[in-house]
Amino acid sequence: MTEPVNFQAVLDEINAEIRPLLGAGGTVASYIPALARVPAAQFGIALRTCAGAEACAGDAATPFSIQSVSKLFTLTLAMQHLGERLWERIGREPSGNPFNSLVQLESEQGKPRNPFINAGAIAVADRLVSLGDACADILALMSSLAGEPIAFDEEVAASEAETGFRNIALANFMKSFGKLDNDVGPVLGMYFHQCSIRMSCVQLARAAGFLCRDGAHPVDGLAAVTTERQTRRINSLMLTCGTYDAAGDVAFSIGLPCKSGVGGGIVAVVPDRLTLAVWSPALDTTGNSLLGMKALELFVGKTGLSVF
Ligand code: GLN
Repeated sequence: MTEPVNFQAVLDEINAEIRPLLGAGGTVASYIPALARVPAAQFGIALRTCAGAEACAGDAATPFSIQSVSKLFTLTLAMQHLGERLWERIGREPSGNPFNSLVQLESEQGKPRNPFINAGAIAVADRLVSLGDACADILALMSSLAGEPIAFDEEVAASEAETGFRNIALANFMKSFGKLDNDVGPVLGMYFHQCSIRMSCVQLARAAGFLCRDGAHPVDGLAAVTTERQTRRINSLMLTCGTYDAAGDVAFSIGLPCKSGVGGGIVAVVPDRLTLAVWSPALDTTGNSLLGMKALELFVGKTGLSVF
């Protein structure tokens, strides 16, 4: 594609193509009661280039529950503090199973397949709890990356704690293998809170900006968030594991590192070019935003951007 791309025009076109499809398919996550109330017919898209130019369309300024997109940022925090030691407790293989699956944990002695499934994120939360005030630390990182204050949604966090039987089981199962250092209570407290972080597409595209800039801070370009090598590794984990058992299909049809959440948000990275955030609450059967994925497909089709 010839330069320069008019990204605002591309996002406006995508918004115009997606809006007639709103409400036509997928279902809002209902297993977390506070999420079940979110109106499905919403769609937002935002991007930020490595140079700091921003574009957005639709409901891009509406905050939503980032859910598992938070796993990207807790991984970042853990890599900053623990470096290679993090991988003693967490693998780097796609699971090929739903995000909340228990099955592989038994044969793998409580070591989760990767940091982006629930078991892996709970293991990361355990490491962060050992390091200090994990809840304060993740909010400080998110606020610094977004360039404005970011907060938890306490109602969503409480709703997850009340109904998070699967996550409670995962944490206890890992604890039974001696793979959590802390009590299950504070680890799950951190996990449920990180999932409840509220951000908009505009804020998420900005916050993920270090991933397209070899780790350079998206707002304060001088400080490194992660090293170049760590940044490459985060991107490769997003490509292979960021959308759970849909990761192969997403690599095939979109070809960008992505991280999704059951709130309907997805963050995508075009290394050395831009970060993109999309949001639409209705999900497909793998727990990924149906129209968010459609929007990413339209984006790569229109711009020709890909890691391949
Ligand atoms: N809070 C959700 C859960 O633990 C996060 C899952 C997701 O976004 N995929 O089930």
